[in-house]
This record gives sequence, C-alpha cells and structure tokens, in this order.
Amino acid sequence: MINLKMYMNGEWVEAKSGKTRDIINPANGEVIAKAAEGDVEDARHAIQVAREAFDSGEWSELPAAARASYLFAIADKLDERAEEIAHLETLDNGKPLRETAFDLADAAACFRYYAGLVTKPDGQTYHVADPMQAMVVREPVGVCGLIVPWNYPLLMGVWKIAPALAAGNTIVFKPSEVTPVTAMKLFEIIEEVGIPKGVANMVMGPGPTVGNELAESHLVDKVSFTGGTATGRSIMKAATGNIKKISLELGGKSPNIVFADADFDTAVDYALFGIFANQGQVCSAGSRLLLEESIHDRFLEVLVERAKKIRVGPGTDPATEMGPLVSQAHMEKVLSYIEIGKQEGARLLCGGNRITANGYDKGFFVEPTIFADTTPKMRIVQEEIFGPVLAVQKFTDEADAIRLANDSVYGLAGGVFTQDGAKALRVIKKLRAGITWINCYHPTYNEAPWGGYKQSGIGRGLGTFGFDEFTEVKQININLQVQPSGWFEN
Ligand code: NAD
Repeated sequence: MINLKMYMNGEWVEAKSGKTRDIINPANGEVIAKAAEGDVEDARHAIQVAREAFDSGEWSELPAAARASYLFAIADKLDERAEEIAHLETLDNGKPLRETAFDLADAAACFRYYAGLVTKPDGQTYHVADPMQAMVVREPVGVCGLIVPWNYPLLMGVWKIAPALAAGNTIVFKPSEVTPVTAMKLFEIIEEVGIPKGVANMVMGPGPTVGNELAESHLVDKVSFTGGTATGRSIMKAATGNIKKISLELGGKSPNIVFADADFDTAVDYALFGIFANQGQVCSAGSRLLLEESIHDRFLEVLVERAKKIRVGPGTDPATEMGPLVSQAHMEKVLSYIEIGKQEGARLLCGGNRITANGYDKGFFVEPTIFADTTPKMRIVQEEIFGPVLAVQKFTDEADAIRLANDSVYGLAGGVFTQDGAKALRVIKKLRAGITWINCYHPTYNEAPWGGYKQSGIGRGLGTFGFDEFTEVKQININLQVQPSGWFEN
C-alpha cells in the first residue's frame, strides 16, 4: 500500500485533518494507495509558503540557466525512473503501459524543452525618439495554482509545472483526487534535485475545496487549469476577486472529417485512434466522425470490424490495447450516455456494454462503442462523453462538413482526411478549433501551442505560447540624457 503525502515547503505532510482517501486501481477495484485528503486549510498553507518563496526572490532571481539546470535534472530523473512511474500511472489511471511509457517520455521531453527555451533570447527593444530607449522584459507572474484532471495525471501536470518553474514562478500543484499517485513521484524528484523549499508545492484533495481555494486566494497570482468546462466556469468566477490571470484548457467534442477521396486505410486507422486511444478519455478525442455520404457505409463496415477487435484489458497486460475507464463513477457516466444515445434513436453499431467477463467484473471496462444515424441536436453529438463512444455524422459536401463540424459549443480540435491538399487547408482554415490535423489525428508536440476556441478554453499551453502564459510583460523606458523634462515652467 502506498502512503501518499502532500509536499509543502520542502516537507512531506499529512492533511491537517488527518483524513485520507482510498485510491483505486480501475482494472480491479482494489485500493492501491491512501492519499492525504487536503482541505482549504492545507491549501492555504501551501499557498502561503509559495508566496513567501516567490517574494524572497530565491527562485525568480536565479539566472535562467540555473533554473534550467534543475529542470534538466528533473528530466534525467524522470527518464531513470520511467518504468517505475509508468507502471504506477497504469495502476492508478488504468491506461495501458504503452501509453504511460509514452507519457513519461513526453514529460521528460517537456522539462527539457522549457529548460532550453528559458535561456534563449527574450524581450523586445523599440527604436523611439531620442533620448529615450524603450524595451520590454518578461517576468514571472508570481504564485501559480496549477490544477489538473485525471486523464494524463503526470503529463498534464508537467505541461504546467515545467513552464511555470522555468519562468521563475513558484507553484502549488493540485493533481486530480482520483489519480494523485505519480504526482508524489514527481515531487520526490523535485525534492531530490534540490529545488529550493517552498518553490514547488503539492496539495491533494477535492476540487470544490482545495482547487477552489487556489482559484480564489488573493495570494495566488495565476491559476492554470485543465479539466471540464463546467469546472472552468467556476474557476473563472472564483478568480475574479484579485483579477487573477487564468488559463483554461477545457473539454471538447471534436470533429474528424473524412472525405471520399481520403486514403481509406489511413482514415479508418486514425478514426479508431482518434476516439479509442486512452479509452476515449482525451479532451481532443475525435469523438464526432463526419463521413462523406459516398463512403459512409463502407467506411463504417471496416471501422466497426476493427473496433470489435480492440483488445480491452488491464493496462498492465502488455497485450492490452484499451484499458478500463478511470473510475466507477466515470464508467457509470459513460454508460448513461450510451443509454441516452439509444433513447435518442441513434443506431448502435458495436459495443454499448460494460465488460464483466474474464474476471473483469471488479474493473471499469466498457466496450468500444460506435453510434451511426445521429442527428446534430442529439446529446451524444453535442455533449462531451469522455469515453470510448463515437458518434458518426454523414455529410454531403465540403460546406456541409464545415457546418456540421462547427456546430458545437466546443472548439478544441479537429481532423481532416483528403488527398486534395487545397481542400484540406480550406476546411482546416474554416474550423473553429485550436488544434488541427490533416491526414492524421492526435500527434502533438511540446513545441506547439495546445488549447481551444469557444468553450474549450482560454489561453494556450506548451510551446512559447504556453511559456508566455506564465509571464508578465514589463515595459521599461529609459532616459539616456538625464535632465528635467521642463514640462512645467515653475
Ligand atoms: P474536472 O473539471 O472534474 O476536474 C479537473 C480538476 O479540477 C481536478 O483536479 C478537480 O479536483 C478540480 N476541480 C473540480 N472542481 C473544482 C472547483 N470547483 N474549483 C477548482 N478546482 C476544481 O475534470 P476531470 O473529470 O478530472 O477531467 C475531465 C475533463 O478534463 C474533460 O472535460 C476533459 O475534456 C478535460 N481535459 C481537457 C484538456 C485540455 O487540454 N483541454 C486535457 C485533459 C482533460
């Protein structure tokens, strides 16, 4: 049994209340860890120490290269412990080992990316009227509250922690209460590499208390949140008190558009990957498949045949291609959407059930599920299900595809499959979405900005855009001929 503690001011602590939460392996329902269950008081303590650490300048005033060296060291330790941490992530979240191995490699790469970036040229200078010189420098925002969901527990955290620390901020990180195990491993590494006390803190516990305190506290300068759109709305409201800077990476219901002239096998393959990778628990999942009329039936025939062959099982089994959903509550939500789809009159082509055979009855396994004959107003077409459930839509031509694709309150991602390059770009340019793909789905890079239009969020993570979100911009005007202005005569 793992005993998970919080990390504040360089110390490992239990919750002040002494409360703990059982952390469940979603493949078999067994308790794998007991996590300190923090409350508002614990969050306040973490915020206070982060505030003091920031105000001391100990971290923000270090040369960028010195901060970078800590980040490089974290990346190296993540690589050294990748197998151990990936295994824990699989036990905690359920996702297959091949996915957690990928997450670990990506997490180390993210630390290296920001370690490299922070020592590169920055700021701007302007040629203004003599004797003035104007310039701009970037500075850290201050204390950053970082709140993440359970679908990529470690990686979502790293996407925020790496740029926030690189830029010179101090942080209070809150993992999802459902999947806090690997956060503790990351903070063990943060301790090992010697990041000064109080700079990086981790608090666990429920969103409405601990998370809300991070969003509300006047000692926090910025909150960076990844999670559901409803939670994002609540964070925005909580952050108004001190006009906190906010970045929100929220939900999606992304269209994956396949034209008749697409490479058929490639499009089928990515349609599967787009929705069933990570059990469909991906914000940018291609959860709406838009098929051109003339290939609709043939495409679905092949897609369904392949979906039925996906090997669902415990993430620790190397043969597994799709693991369990993250929790019983989430599985129930996904199953309830499948019922909604049936009641709305969509045609269930495959899946639709919980899997209990093969001793899976204690786990939270759901079959890869595909609905056809949907209409745009159906809830399974409009609402984020966040599970292995695909809603298929049929379109007649390019204009129809664009209209259907954009008929959503979300605007996170989208894909287009066609061998006509001009058409691909025309369609992509019309998509109201922040992350797009042509003839592929899902690849993403630490170098490129991540985030959405419309109700999929505010701001961007990753890349230089993600770095900028953790900085303030300061204008500096210098008088190169030090003499009075003479504006007032007396
Ligand atoms: P969630 O919104 O329920 O929780 C996310 C985090 O917010 C958790 O740490 C939770 O404890 C905390 N939280 C909950 N209520 C809060 C409150 N009132 N104040 C402050 N914090 C609060 O989301 P989830 O179920 O953990 O994750 C699934 C959602 O995350 C999906 O909607 C998915 O699309 C989204 N997501 C988005 C991205 C992206 O990059 N856009 C990436 C991954 C996941």
